Amino acid sequence: MPDQSAAPARRVLVTGGAGFLGSHLTRLLLSAGHRVTVVDNFSTGTRANLAHLAHLDALTVLDHDIEVPLDLEVDQIYHLACPASPVQYQRDPVRTLKTCVVGSFNVLDLARRTGATVLLASTSEVYGDPAVHPQDEAYWGNVNPMGPRSCYDEGKRCAEAAFFSYREQHGMPVKVARIFNTYGPGMRADDGRVVSNFVVAALHGEPLRVLGDGSQTRSFCYVDDLVDGLVRLMETPEDVTGPINLGNPDEHTVLELAEMVIALAGAPGAHLEHGPLPVDDPTRRCPNIERAQWVLGWKPSTTLGEGLAATVRWFRERAA
Ligand code: NAD
Ligand code: UDP
Repeated sequence: MPDQSAAPARRVLVTGGAGFLGSHLTRLLLSAGHRVTVVDNFSTGTRANLAHLAHLDALTVLDHDIEVPLDLEVDQIYHLACPASPVQYQRDPVRTLKTCVVGSFNVLDLARRTGATVLLASTSEVYGDPAVHPQDEAYWGNVNPMGPRSCYDEGKRCAEAAFFSYREQHGMPVKVARIFNTYGPGMRADDGRVVSNFVVAALHGEPLRVLGDGSQTRSFCYVDDLVDGLVRLMETPEDVTGPINLGNPDEHTVLELAEMVIALAGAPGAHLEHGPLPVDDPTRRCPNIERAQWVLGWKPSTTLGEGLAATVRWFRERAA
């Protein structure tokens, strides 16, 4: 963690702060002494994610859709509002696209008026099904603009373009983080992403459904590492805009992940089964994090084994 004790207390807005990453980030910012306003429409996030912080005067939670302009006095904005699970973002693709695009314009207009530094939670999905491996920030990506993932990946590409256009035209302090698959305690049991699906199924002694033959890869980052990276990026000098990849370069096949989860959490009856591979499912994904290491002094410190064990523990306690 950067030494936040030296940083003055700030008024920080976290859009999507009731979600998985947003709630962890909010906890970290409050623990560093900042005042945090969470703006969320609770479409995939919950008030329960913030319940352990609700007693703090420094936290304000607003029920607000980011597609609607908002007006607050703030010093920093972390813009996370957007469903991240393919199952969730494909439920209402038009809304997802509007959240990415209109939501980013609203956040940027707020930042412009207040002078706040604004950080976009972008995604490795901007690289699509990558032809370059591992992916570095200079790679322009391989995205299907008409496929089922396009509401999200093209939405985030447009959001990045909006951030860099406001920077270019208005000279604003903007930061863009490209986040790779992140997991950990606090994911919804019905979130739909692979780690929570596998852990919940294993604990219930149900089949872990590996989509395709399981040879596709992902690189999984533990949530505490990730939110540390976001704060480090926010605290960089104004000329550091990114994009900067944030993720764990430890790459695994989905099949390996399933086997690790069974070994850690498999109740009697838990076993692997296969289902059809979703359309446009990226074949390989792994971040090159040299830029994050160099610019932020950041790299993940939690191994997949440690992070999965903590995640399993968390889900097990909830199920008890
Ligand atoms: P999440 O679904 O748990 O959280 C998203 C939050 O945004 C939820 O609280 C949801 O209610 C809120 N939200 C959605 N649409 C909104 C709207 N129109 N107005 C206000 N609030 C809205 O997802 P997450 O994993 O916490 O992801 C957070 C951000 O990080 C997203 O922008 C996502 O694209 C990005 N990201 C996450 C990952 C990951 O692996 N977790 C990877 C890449 C990028
Ligand atoms: N996946 C799977 N079983 C599941 C959910 C996902 O095999 O229950 C696969 C999915 O096809 C993809 C990988 O796991 O190849 C990661 O999926 P996730 O939805 O977590 O995120 P993505 O990286 O695809 O956005």
